[in-house]
Order: sequence, then C-alpha cells, then structure tokens
Amino acid sequence: MTIIYDLNKELGLHEQSLAPYATRSSESRGRILDEGECETRSEFQRDRDRIIHSKAFRRLEYKTQVFINHEGDLYRTRLTHSIEVAQIARSISRALGLNEDLTEAIALAHDLGHTAFGHAGQDALNTCMRDYGGFEHNLQSLRVVDTLEEKYANFDGLNLTFETREGILKHCSLKNARNMGAVGERFIQRTQPGLEAQLTNIADEIAYNNHDVDDGLRSGLITIEQLRQVEIFEHQYEQVVAHHPNLHPKRQSNEVIRRIINQLIKDLLHTTSSNLSKNNISSAADVKAMKTPLAAFSLDIKAKNAALKSFLYKNLYQHERVQEMSASAQKVITELFETFFNQPERLPEKHLYLAQRMLKKEGDYGLARVVADYIAGMTDRYALSQHQQLKID
Ligand code: MG
Repeated sequence: MTIIYDLNKELGLHEQSLAPYATRSSESRGRILDEGECETRSEFQRDRDRIIHSKAFRRLEYKTQVFINHEGDLYRTRLTHSIEVAQIARSISRALGLNEDLTEAIALAHDLGHTAFGHAGQDALNTCMRDYGGFEHNLQSLRVVDTLEEKYANFDGLNLTFETREGILKHCSLKNARNMGAVGERFIQRTQPGLEAQLTNIADEIAYNNHDVDDGLRSGLITIEQLRQVEIFEHQYEQVVAHHPNLHPKRQSNEVIRRIINQLIKDLLHTTSSNLSKNNISSAADVKAMKTPLAAFSLDIKAKNAALKSFLYKNLYQHERVQEMSASAQKVITELFETFFNQPERLPEKHLYLAQRMLKKEGDYGLARVVADYIAGMTDRYALSQHQQLKID
C-alpha cells in the first residue's frame, strides 16, 4: 500500500479535533507580510519554529531570571523559565482542547524582549528611557519579533501571525495601544485575546512563583520553615510529610512544589472550563468579545496564590542579597546607556549606523531607542564585559 502524505487532510483533522472556542490556524488573521501557506506545517507551528531559530531565543540562555547566571548552574534562566512556561501552558491547552502550537509559540516568545539581570535590568533601562518613551519588556518582546530579528531575506523581524503577536503583547497602555495597529485594538476596545494567550499568561505566573520557591530554597535565602507560613505551601507540606515522613528535605520541597503546580493547574482548568460554560462560549470570537478574561483561578486559589507571590516579593526579591545584585545590575545598565547615548561613536558599527540614521530622523528620541534595543539584547555576561570594556577604553 502506498501512503501519500496529505498535509491539508492532517491539518483539517487536527483542527476538527479542537474545541469550538480554540484558535484555528486556518482562521488566522495572518501575517503583516503575506507569505502564502507552508507545505509542511500549520501557521502556528511555523511561528513557533521561527521563534526557536531566532537569535533572541538563544540569548535567553544567558539572561537572568532572579539569580545571576554565574551564581550557580542549577538556577533558572530566562530560557529554562520559558520552557517551563511552555510545558505548563501546553498541558493546560491540550486539556481544554485548545491550540497547543499557538500556545507553545506564545510561551516561548513571551520573554524574548527581557533585558539582562531580570527585573532590575528592565527597571534600570526604563528609568534611562523615561524621557524617550520608556522601556517595557513586554512591548520589547513584540519589537523583537516584529522588527529587530534579522534573519529573513524578505522582511525584518519574524513576520509572525497576528494571534502569536497578540499573545505576546500581554498588556499595553492606552497611549501605546494607539500606535500598535491591529494588536493594540483590544486594549482600546477592552476585549480579550484568545484563550491560548490568556492561559499562557497565567502559566507564566504558575511557573515563576514555583520555580522561584525552588531557586529561593536552593540559594538558602528562604527556608522551608518560612514557607510554611504560606497557606498553599503548608497545606501540601503537611500531606507530603504525612505520606513520606523520612524524605530528605530537598525531595520534600520538590514534592511540595510539584503538588502546588498540580493544584494550581487543576483549579485553573476547572474554573476556566466552568467560565466557558457559564458564558455559553461556543467560538473563538465569543472568547474575544468578553469584557473580562475567561481563563482564571477560583477566588480561593487566587487569594492563596497571591499570598505566595507576596511572600516571595517580601522574602526573596526584596532580600538583601538579591537587592545587592539588583543594585549592581542597575549600575551596569545605567552606565552602559549613558555611555552609548552620550557617545554613540562607541557603539558597534551596525548599531552606530542605525543610531546615526535615527538621530537624523527622530533626534535624541530615535537615538535612545537604538541604544535601548542594543542594551536590551545583551546577555548578562555580554553586558558585564561591555561595561568592563567601557571603563578600560
Ligand atoms: Mg515570564
């Protein structure tokens, strides 16, 4: 028997298997530049593949999540964070009959615009850019996939579909939204993105809260005893100890964390699915027309999750040692910005060329954006070595 592959048939079957409220590749609003169909993949598979092959994606490996890369080999980086987000988001997506390819694309791209040194880096760059439109990593992720990647012969950026771009742009001020074209519309009209985007946003939160507990424990900056004051942790901790009284503490906490993740995912699936039926949602258009997101935790879990989040904020992110790292990271980013902004001739050739062009076109505003793009792209170690270099020169 000869088997001849028929992509259209396979894609059709895949789309038929999705829930009615899923986002379908065949109904995509398309790409800014029309490229025609791919012979081997759906539109969202193609988006995901472009993201994986991008330079910005590879840079995530050397960008800080909370702990600076060189502090230890086992801490999360932006890359492993993004992979964990994709894992959680895909599981949720599959369980609800949503489009897993779109979910994966959004998850892997969501942090592409993040600076080096975690939130400290972004805050510093935002302060440097305060008179020039500010800096926000979420907008920058979109900027990376829309403009900054230089990979394809026919266009700048990755020319992704509307749906993936919409998912990347999680939040946006009204002022910015007016300049964003189609992806900005929903912020003005107060409508929602697809469910894949909504759920990936929550998967991001599930991933970072839990891996930050794990990394926090690993670093010794927070302890199990402290975490036991947090209801959601304590509840699972008691059960783990009851079932496995002689477990090594590291395994104990691993087990607690996986149980919390499980509990959050189950609650999210349950609440979202009941929201779908309560609101009689029967299409992707229904999802988008809602005034509030359908993907949500129950009120009980929302409160417990918020308590975990504020615990981490107070005890880990505000910890003296993390603050010290943040302060030195902010110094690096700020000094890099000031140097390149005041002496653009010190920029590498490609960026200098762009800087001169933008300076002519938009004055300091344009120059500042070129410098911010260059700095935002830097990995932790590249930023440190550039900073070192500037001092020597
Ligand atoms: Mg993230």
